[in-house]
Amino acid sequence: MKIKAAVVREKAGPFVIEEVELDEPRPNEVLVRIASSGLCHTDLVARMQFLPIPLPGVFGHEGAGIVEKVGSQVTKVKPGDHVATSFLSCGTCTMCKRGKPCWCSEFRRLNFGGRRPDGSATMKKGRETIYGSFFGQSTFASHALVTERNAVKVPSDVPLEILSPMGCGIQTGAGGVINTLQAKPGSSIAVFGIGSVGLSAIMAAVASGCTQIIGIDIVEDRLKLAREFGATDIINSGKVNPVEQIQKLTGGGIEYTLECTGNPKVFRQAVDSLMMGGTCGLIGVAPVGVEANLEMQTILDGRTIKGIVEGDCISDLFIPQLIELYKKGRFPFDRLLKFYSLDQINEAAEESEKGKTLKAVLKP
Ligand SMILES: [Zn+2]
Ligand SMILES: [Zn+2]
Repeated sequence: MKIKAAVVREKAGPFVIEEVELDEPRPNEVLVRIASSGLCHTDLVARMQFLPIPLPGVFGHEGAGIVEKVGSQVTKVKPGDHVATSFLSCGTCTMCKRGKPCWCSEFRRLNFGGRRPDGSATMKKGRETIYGSFFGQSTFASHALVTERNAVKVPSDVPLEILSPMGCGIQTGAGGVINTLQAKPGSSIAVFGIGSVGLSAIMAAVASGCTQIIGIDIVEDRLKLAREFGATDIINSGKVNPVEQIQKLTGGGIEYTLECTGNPKVFRQAVDSLMMGGTCGLIGVAPVGVEANLEMQTILDGRTIKGIVEGDCISDLFIPQLIELYKKGRFPFDRLLKFYSLDQINEAAEESEKGKTLKAVLKP
């Protein structure tokens, strides 16, 4: 079928709205009419080719929409169902079997390969191959082919236009707190880096009953937002030493920290701010090859560092859980969103890169 898609044709080039041809769903695939698609930092990284994804390609990996058609073997969803789309995993490797699809051994090939697992492409334009299957989806388009495995059924009484960012950014920040750190009621947590991921973490910390929530950033406006979303304290780490400040605020160190910047200096601060036995979750993605220094004595005192991908979650379980919290008014993530039409995708990308937009959502 003919669809509308935002195609990136060259490294660092613009998104170009084009008409391309999308395959019919294979037996395990689901055709989704996209209602909205979140724009995530990883889409922009892919456009810059920091991830070597074949071009011309269609990105977009946080979708929400209505199932239009399903392949012959699909049982999870049927036409008319509302779905959010999340990352793809193989389901058969050791970590998938252990319920940790975020660490699937096939993660790179399935999410960044530009093709289906069998090597075929889902899109073309005339004779030209258009690479898709980005995170098993490619949602910067009017329609996307996803697999049954990464289509998450969502309730139909919540507007689809707000649900797309659930599939990556929101579940990453919230899952870091709820699934990885498993922050206990009454505990203390510091979140380094206040973007949409950091704010999702703060909302999740509030929902989890953390009583001291410290937001750290170098931009005053972001710190103000951290407060609005539930931070009890804020620290401008451009002005004061956040480690000393956290020790002062907590009387010796904090139980949990989350690093959402990918900066090795900030990561060190997040580890050094911990109390003995505390845990630091690392969410921020640093370029390949970047190393971080830590003092070995710090780790010896029972401190733990945990890497977090996609909020350590099983999207089929976690996204409905977050939607339920939203419906109860305990996870107001919709306040992060700013809407654009798909035609305005270049503007949305620019405003996201400049930090003017927390979470851009595109509507075809
Ligand atoms: Zn796997
Ligand atoms: Zn993402």
